[in-house]
Order: sequence, then C-alpha cells, then structure tokens
Amino acid sequence: MIHEFRADLHCHSTFSDGTYTPEQLLTSAKEIGLKGLSITDHDTVDAYERAIPFAKHMGIDLIHGVEFSARYLRKSVHILGYALDIYHPAVKHYCFLHRERRKTRNLEMIAKLNKHGLMIHYADVEKEASSNNGFSVVGRPHIALALLRRGYVNSIQQAFKLYIGENQKCFVDGPSFSVAETIDVIHQASGKAIIAHPHLIDDNTIIQELIKLNFDGIEGYYSMFLREHQKKWVDLGESKGWIITGGSDFHGDIKPHIKLGCSWINKVTFDELAKYQASK
Ligand code: AMP
Ligand code: FE
Ligand code: FE
Ligand code: ZN
Repeated sequence: MIHEFRADLHCHSTFSDGTYTPEQLLTSAKEIGLKGLSITDHDTVDAYERAIPFAKHMGIDLIHGVEFSARYLRKSVHILGYALDIYHPAVKHYCFLHRERRKTRNLEMIAKLNKHGLMIHYADVEKEASSNNGFSVVGRPHIALALLRRGYVNSIQQAFKLYIGENQKCFVDGPSFSVAETIDVIHQASGKAIIAHPHLIDDNTIIQELIKLNFDGIEGYYSMFLREHQKKWVDLGESKGWIITGGSDFHGDIKPHIKLGCSWINKVTFDELAKYQASK
C-alpha cells in the first residue's frame, strides 16, 4: 500500500472507450492506494452521475474532468478540462455536439470499411460501446472491436494499423471543433484547460502555436513515459506559470500494457485543482 498521496488525473471509463465502469475504476484506484482520481472520458462527463456518489463511498477524492477532441492546423489535439462545472449548459451542449460529430464521422468510416469489403454496421459498433454497462461516446476503438469480433482483424492494434489509424485507408477526420472554442467552453464552466499528452504531438510547430493560446496547464507527466523524459514538458509548463498535471490514460483491457496509476500527481497539484472545484 502506498502512503504517499498520489492522484491519477487521466483515465477512461465505459462511458467512452475504457473497459472499466466508473465503479471499477474507483475500486481499482482504492486497491492500488491512489487517494485521488479524475475520470477524463472522451467528449463526455456522463460517468460522473455514478462516479460522484461511489467516490464518496470509497473515500477517493474526485476532480471532475473530461478529455475533449479538437483540431489544430488539421492535426488532432486533445484538451483536458478539470474542475469544470459538469452541469453547466455549455458543457452539456458541447458534449451533445460531439456526439453528433462522432455519429457523422463513424458512419463515414463504416461506409469506407464496407467499400473495402469489411461488412460491419453501425449497430455492431454501438453494441461494442454499450456492452460494458456505460456507453455514451462511440469512438474508433469500438469500430476496432467490431472488426475484431467479425474476424476482419486479429487485434485492435491491427485495425488501427490497417484501416482506421490516422492516414490509413478507412480513416475519416469528420467534422471538428477548434482548440480555441474548446478552451472557451471549459472556461465558461469555470474549469482549467490543459494540453493533453504533448508527448504525442510530433509536430513542434503545433506545440509552439498551442502554447500561445490561453491554456491553464499542460499534462507534464503522462502514462508510461519515464519521469526524466517528461522534464521538457514540465519545464515548458513551469516557464508559462501553468498547472502541471499528470495521469496514466488508463483504458482497461483495450490497452492492457497501461496500468492505472502509472503516472500521477502529488497532493499540492491535486489540492490546487480541488480548490478551484470547491470554489464553485
Ligand atoms: P476517436 O476519439 O474516435 O478518434 O478514437 C481515438 C482513441 O482511439 C484514442 O483515444 C485511443 O483510445 C484509441 N487509439 C488511437 N490510436 C490507437 C492505436 N493505434 N491502437 C489502439 N488504440 C488507439
Ligand atoms: Fe481513448
Ligand atoms: Fe488523448
Ligand atoms: Zn485519454
């Protein structure tokens, strides 16, 4: 059991593309000795209806969170929102728009897959998203699972590599939202807007442009990256006077090599975010 305060601020539940329910995430967090958690589902805060009472029951402190998808200069950028008012109408509306965006895009990807002879239907994909007692956001991992179930691929990785990974033959960008409007929605809901996993942004021009925007922080500690390899991002965040967050990006069984709590933040950072949340 770890006695030091550790909080994992980045994980996904069955409400997006994680395979653990909110209750399973909180139970696992407790088992490994985490004191705090933020569930950051893609484009939805629906997990919190169940997570809030269950976290109280488990004695885990929750920071309300979300991971929004956005596009900048035609590249995909993820933005974490923390300590935001999850009941704010701007958040509710934005999540609704993302759901519509995803449906359009998923239908386009499925049409492309069908053209290539991979006969899956939207209902198959929805079924993958709903099979685990959650479900509000349908994403590419659910398309990958449908392809796997029909035997068209032999792993989720292979589905991305051959068909639906960025720039692969059945990938579709679809409609998108800008980074600026995403930050704005988070700010309207009095949350903090954080650049997610800069480690995965392979284009320095994008980073240089992003840091000019009115973010409040950066995810300096990310997933399995070694702490010494994160210094660049921590230093960048500190030079801006930003909040430095961290988390595992745990998705459960669809990314089994990534463990909950493999990246975390300490009590000082956690309390700073908790303070913003409490002040609402
Ligand atoms: P979407 O939001 O629908 O574009 O799906 C993006 C999600 O797909 C990411 O958050 C990951 O969970 C997952 N993903 C992206 N690339 C891969 C990959 N190569 N292998 C497995 N999962 C991936
Ligand atoms: Fe994901
Ligand atoms: Fe992400
Ligand atoms: Zn994530």
